[in-house]
Amino acid sequence: MTAGSRPVEIIGGGLAGLALGIGLRRAGVPVTVFEAGDYPRHRVCGEFIAGLPDEVSRKLGIEDVFEGSILNTKVCWFLKDRRIGDMRLPRAAIGISRFMLDARLARLFVGRGGRLVTRRRMASDVHGPGRVLTAGRRRYADSPWVGLKAHVRNLSLGADLELHLGTGAYVGLSRVEEGWINLCGLFRRRSGLRGDSPEGLARTLRSSGLFALAERVGGVELRRGSACAVAGFVFDRRVGQRGAVALGDSCAVVPPFTGNGMAMALTGAALSLDPLLDWARYRASWEDASATIQEGLQHEFRVRLRGAALLHPMLLDPAGQSCLGALARTGLLPLRPLYHLLH
Ligand SMILES: Cc1cc2nc3c(=O)[nH]c(=O)nc-3n(C[C@H](O)[C@H](O)[C@H](O)COP(=O)(O)OP(=O)(O)OC[C@H]3O[C@@H](n4cnc5c(N)ncnc54)[C@H](O)[C@@H]3O)c2cc1C
Repeated sequence: MTAGSRPVEIIGGGLAGLALGIGLRRAGVPVTVFEAGDYPRHRVCGEFIAGLPDEVSRKLGIEDVFEGSILNTKVCWFLKDRRIGDMRLPRAAIGISRFMLDARLARLFVGRGGRLVTRRRMASDVHGPGRVLTAGRRRYADSPWVGLKAHVRNLSLGADLELHLGTGAYVGLSRVEEGWINLCGLFRRRSGLRGDSPEGLARTLRSSGLFALAERVGGVELRRGSACAVAGFVFDRRVGQRGAVALGDSCAVVPPFTGNGMAMALTGAALSLDPLLDWARYRASWEDASATIQEGLQHEFRVRLRGAALLHPMLLDPAGQSCLGALARTGLLPLRPLYHLLH
């Protein structure tokens, strides 16, 4: 243990947990990350990191993990089979698979002297000094959502990110490494949702009213092991958890159409770094450090979480979609102002 530094335990080795661990290790704090799974592993995620400030990566010391990733600037929106809007992002979004990103972060954390304990599921409701919760989304058995993702090849894209709005569903497609395209969607829960074969994906897309996309997906090559699904989550715009230092999705869950959940996880880790260092070096109590972190998270995320919660139903409900379609026809779809609100 580094002399004069209290140790930190992090529950959950996803983006928030590993990035925070790397930042703390850079300052010499002894850190253990407990991770229920192992690396590398595919995760349900759009793998499109929008709105990540450079200073967040710099502060955490994780710039190198994005090396060789795709830079995305052009986004096009489709409503059912109709192209309704095109937009150039004010700053490039990063395309990298979670398979690669999480493994690189884990390697960097261990390389910096962090202790990584994998295949260890810890209690996520035990809080106290030195314990940080980064265990991802809270579980809700009656959630209406299912997330599906798979990497596919032999498909051409009309933009860096295609975002397709369907019936009770939306689906994003964007490039990740080695020529793979990540297809990831959020669907209202129902039977018959499959993403583990091109035929299953095509059926799922057809049943969501995305016929043209289903046609394109029917003949793709699927990356072995990449298909996965997740259920039991909700979009939770309450920031933080009572009595805990909670970051990333454990703090709040933004709807995936924003492409901002990963940037939020990393930003939360970066803004927690100084208060946690103050605690580790006996310059602040745990209560003060937690309160500073909570205030910082509220300040940073409140507006975008509210905005995303208001817009999300519009993307999925028929009335909201008609409204979007009408705005698109009159050329008034406010894509850029919405981007700024949500990032
Ligand atoms: C369908 C869908 C699409 C998405 N698309 C995008 C996108 O394109 N862009 C974007 O920025 N965001 C996207 N997101 C959101 C993004 O995936 C999350 O915001 C991000 O992963 C949050 O990172 P995290 O570190 O908080 O949690 P996670 O990355 O989920 O990491 C949590 C870790 O904790 C571990 N864990 C859980 N419980 C325990 C326990 N008890 N003990 C030990 N370990 C535990 C888990 O195994 C996991 O490794 C999407 C989400 C969904 C559902």
